[in-house]
Order: sequence, then C-alpha cells, then structure tokens
Amino acid sequence: MGVIVQKYGGTSVADIDRIKNVARRVAKAHDEGNAVVVILSAMSGVTDNLIRMAHQVTEDPARRELDVLLATGEQTTAALLAMTLISMNYRAESLLGHQAEVLTDCDYGRARILDIGADRIRRLVDAGNIVVVAGFQGCDLNGNITTLGRGGSDTSAVAIATALKADVCEIYTDVDGIYTADPNICPKARKMKKVSFEEMLEMASLGAKVLQIRSVEFAKKYNVPIHVRSSFTEEEGTMVVNEEADMERLVVSGVTSSKNEARIAVKGVPDQPGIAAKILTPIAEAGINVDMIVQSSPTGDTNDLAFTVPKTDYKRAMEIERNVARDIGAQDVRGDDSIAKVSVVGVGMKSHSGVAAKMFSTLAAEGINIRMISTSEIRISCIITDKYAELAVRALHSAFGLNSE
Ligand code: ADP
Ligand code: ASP
Ligand code: MG
Repeated sequence: MGVIVQKYGGTSVADIDRIKNVARRVAKAHDEGNAVVVILSAMSGVTDNLIRMAHQVTEDPARRELDVLLATGEQTTAALLAMTLISMNYRAESLLGHQAEVLTDCDYGRARILDIGADRIRRLVDAGNIVVVAGFQGCDLNGNITTLGRGGSDTSAVAIATALKADVCEIYTDVDGIYTADPNICPKARKMKKVSFEEMLEMASLGAKVLQIRSVEFAKKYNVPIHVRSSFTEEEGTMVVNEEADMERLVVSGVTSSKNEARIAVKGVPDQPGIAAKILTPIAEAGINVDMIVQSSPTGDTNDLAFTVPKTDYKRAMEIERNVARDIGAQDVRGDDSIAKVSVVGVGMKSHSGVAAKMFSTLAAEGINIRMISTSEIRISCIITDKYAELAVRALHSAFGLNSE
C-alpha cells in the first residue's frame, strides 16, 4: 500500500474548525485506500507566543528548556487531530518526535536530523492507523527534546517521507503553491507548476519561507518530490522535483526578500595580512553564520570590512566585534539591523549575461540605494534599507517580465 505523507502548517491548524477540516482531508485520503502519515505544526502564532513568554522570564533562556517549551505547540495540535479522527471513528494515534524516532544532534533550537527509525510509525500504519506526528521536534542521543529551527516541521515531513519511502511529500499551507515571488508581497506573482530542487534551495535560503531550506536539502538528497498546496482548496499546487528537460528555463524565475539579517561594519581596520581572519574567526567560533562580506579598497593604510549575520545573532556579534576592534586597533564598529536582502534567482542565469546590470538599474530607477552585493551561478542578491524591500520585489518582478496579466 502506498504511503502518503501530509504536512499541515500553522494556519491550517489555527483553530478547532481548521483542525476538523484537516481531519476531513486526512480521512478522505485514508478512505481512498492510502496509508496516511500526518505531520503537524503548532497553531499559527503559538511558537512566537512561547518564545515571547520565555523572554519574559529571562533575556537569555536556557536553550535546552526553550526546546522543551517550544515542542509543546506541536504536541497540542497532534493530540487534537488524533482525537478528532478517533471521534470520527478512525483509528489514529499521535506521536511526539522521540516516539517517532526522530534522532537529531544536540544543537538546541536548530538541531539537524541524523536518522529516523520509523519502525513505530510503520507498525502503527500496518495495523491500519492514521499516524499523526508532532513536527519540528526530535530528540538527541541522550533523550533530550530538540527542535529543528523555525519552519522545521517541513523538514520533519520530508525526513519522515524519506524514511517511509513515500512517493510524495505533500506540504499543505496557506498559499496554493510556490509563486514567482511571495504572493502576499507581490500581487502579480505567478504560481509555478514545477520548480527544481536547485532553484527552490536558493529561494528558500533567500527568504521564501514557504519551505524550510533543510527540507529542500533533504528532498534533493533523497529525491523525494514535494507537492506544495493549499489545505483550503482541492487545486493542484506546485511540484518541487529534480530538474527536468521540459522545465521552463527562464533567466530569472523568482524574486525573494528577507529581513532576517543585520549588517556589521568594522571601520578603519589596519590593512595587513591576517586581519580578516581576526575579525571573522571569533564570529565563526561563536557558531554565527556569516553571509555576505565586503571589504572596501584601502584609504591610506586602513580599510573597512562589512558583513551580514542572522538578526537573531546580531547583539552577540556586535559584542564580539567591539572586543575584536579593541584588540586589532580598528577605529569603530557600526551595526544596522534595518536592512533587507532582495534577490533574483534562476537557473537560466548560468548562460545569460546582463542580469546584474538590469537588477541594479531597476533598483536605481526606484531610488533604492544598494549597500552590498553578492552573486552565485544562479542568483544575485543586494542589501538595501528594509523599508524598500516590498517595493524592490515588485519592481524587479515586473522588470524581469514575471508579472501575471
Ligand atoms: P506554514 O505555516 O504553512 O508552514 P509559512 O508561513 O511557513 O506557512 O509559509 C507560507 C508563506 O510563505 C506564505 O503565506 C507566503 O507569504 C510565504 N512565501 C514566501 N515566498 C513565497 C513564494 N515564492 N511562494 C509562495 N509563498 C511564499
Ligand atoms: N511551529 C514551528 C514554527 O513556527 C515549526 C513550523 O511551523 O514549521 O517555526
Ligand atoms: Mg512554514
């Protein structure tokens, strides 16, 4: 019997009526003769609320305890859906991360899945149950509860689909597919029928939160197709699959924005070998990911080095750099967390020139100043002031011919 894995996000389980709606969809898939495994998120807003409460207790909540707290959001919805299904006379059982054998490393708050046993899920499914798994959570080798990072129930779903050798992993959310830009920012965005793993990886890492990046990495590695669709309609959504010969190869296929980063500039740095390492090694040692790095050309015997870090690590990174600046004799450290990154993505860029020039002139025409630039084979990103992010997305979407009629 084919196994169907369905994941429902926060808005799809936001209240009891919506949980009942999910139960009806799950029951229908079961009635059609499928073995159904459901992965759930917390009700929308619940994880944010739990984080807020933890920060009311202390500025720096213990990471282990924060994960114990955050995992309760998904525990609630999993139990509510299982009891709804049972009340409809279906056999159903909910499982928490550790019961579903989701083994992770012990990096609380952003743990990585190491392995999924899935024996218990399989036994329950074989006995005719609908299995409801709490997403976003796992446990480490010592049995501690861990969470997988914001949006992590997408990754739970793809990992479980892989372990169960499911034909497809369905991700039900509040939009009916993947669009050429976030449809909540760009009303003229177009829904795509298919997207390659490669493009989706770039889009997810550049702010398209419709899929957590690690879920796409997982799906690409194990070649599990993902079907992103709405829990409120019956319409087909978007398939995320390996690149296929018949795929549209647009030069630019998507535009994204992200306000999740902050910029730190170390000014008046002595222009000597080894200085960049002195500035960035302590950041790496603190486990902070650096994204863009720009070094200005030297004026006299000093120059400036600027880089971006996740906003959540901004305060820590600023403290580290103030100490570094003292040690190396830099003049000043400046930070700015009111920035946004806008990007254009497309596999067709590999064989086309002129994309960067068009992106820069489009932003210039809107009077938007570019503060940093970075590129890869299939994307170009610019750092701008955050209040222009939405305007920039719409302007670029139009300039690259992506607008729907
Ligand atoms: P869920 O709670 O179901 O996991 P998320 O809020 O994490 O939902 O992800 C869905 C949201 O992703 C949409 O509401 C939309 O605003 C956003 N999004 C960003 N970029 C895109 C895109 N290119 N296509 C579709 N949705 C996008
Ligand atoms: N509830 C978690 C979050 O809000 C995980 C998820 O929704 O995927 O980030
Ligand atoms: Mg999500």
